[in-house]
Amino acid sequence: MKASQLKQTLGAAEQSCRASGARLTEKRRNVLAVLLRAKTPLSAYEIAEQYGRDYGEPIPAMSVYRMLDFLADENLAHKLNSENKYLACAHIACDHSHETPQFLICSRCSKVREIGIKPEVIAALRDTVEGAGYHLLTSQLELDCLCDECGRSAA
Ligand SMILES: [Zn+2]
Ligand SMILES: [Zn+2]
Ligand SMILES: [Zn+2]
Repeated sequence: MKASQLKQTLGAAEQSCRASGARLTEKRRNVLAVLLRAKTPLSAYEIAEQYGRDYGEPIPAMSVYRMLDFLADENLAHKLNSENKYLACAHIACDHSHETPQFLICSRCSKVREIGIKPEVIAALRDTVEGAGYHLLTSQLELDCLCDECGRSAA
């Protein structure tokens, strides 16, 4: 992400926090910036390490977890449950409302794309799950994929 784009996205994040009565403190903002600069999702430990490199002050992983919880509550970051890693929301600078995100995860290069699967597809999935006697706990889907680039080089 380019520096100007990063600045704009962080500004939008600050605004959306203010609108929901929350505060994007400097450290939370820095953690979000680490995620925005990352090309692939990061674990809390990787975030702590990168934070130390970027800002010259170490930060304990425990505080990173707390800040990630905050960022996730504000829909500024998401947790990939399948990988136990985090990534910045792709819609921070958008003004439409945020629905349950779904993720396409490239199994080769780990690049992730946040998408919105059609609600009727999710509803059909939920019905199928319920038909099998289970309850879907989350409609956040994380799908193993090959991205276009990796698909091309594999062919
Ligand atoms: Zn999102
Ligand atoms: Zn958007
Ligand atoms: Zn890929």
